[in-house]
Amino acid sequence: MLLAATKKNKTGSLNIGVMGGTFDPIHMGHLVTAEEARQQFDLDYVVFVPAGVPPHKEKEAISLPEHRYLMTSLAVMSNPSFFVSRVEIDQEAPTYTIDTVRHFSCGKEPQPEVFFITGADAILEIFTWKDYEELLRLCTFIAVSRPGYSLDHFHETMERTCPEMRHNVHLLEIPALAVSSTFIRERVTLSKTIKYLTPEPVEQYIKKHELYLTDR
Ligand code: ATP
Ligand code: MG
Repeated sequence: MLLAATKKNKTGSLNIGVMGGTFDPIHMGHLVTAEEARQQFDLDYVVFVPAGVPPHKEKEAISLPEHRYLMTSLAVMSNPSFFVSRVEIDQEAPTYTIDTVRHFSCGKEPQPEVFFITGADAILEIFTWKDYEELLRLCTFIAVSRPGYSLDHFHETMERTCPEMRHNVHLLEIPALAVSSTFIRERVTLSKTIKYLTPEPVEQYIKKHELYLTDR
């Protein structure tokens, strides 16, 4: 992965956005989210990190990591501030957010500031994540509100379950895009069009490799 060192923050380090996901497949919701985060938080670049064997999705059938990596690469091709990392898909064992955040933040001088971009619903369960206290120290979270998600519920649950998160969790409202990978897979299975829900090269890739034709 070639990372361009462009502008830096006040401490002279880079601001890196890290967006983890299964990306099966990547879609416009992911891309709009990453772009909005890039601009609002003055990120130097955003790295998409397709999950290898997602700890929470082990039992479900998901597409091969290589398919998901290639689709993600095709989707970000036209944005010079977007990159894709193989750090998780090259691991055989399940990987955790803490490992990925350490990968991007530790051992570099000056230490980059990592902004981990994730769904607001997922962040409310952060205290179930591996080494979450260290995670809260190592990075800032950008919690993205998805369409239909109640922000009141978010604030109320955060205060009740993990008030210390208040300091490094920022909420980001995304223009409504009620698209999900599940929705896209279901549409492909039903032979419905997915045009404009995902970038065209991804749509072509899905067709060429006959992904999602059968129900899971
Ligand atoms: P699936 O339906 O398979 O769960 P997904 O669309 O939720 O897929 P993931 O790869 O699971 O996609 O999500 C990666 C990250 O992107 C998560 O943090 C998720 O909350 C966020 N995300 C997914 N879709 C959207 C969307 N439409 N708007 C904003 N964020 C999204
Ligand atoms: Mg999901």
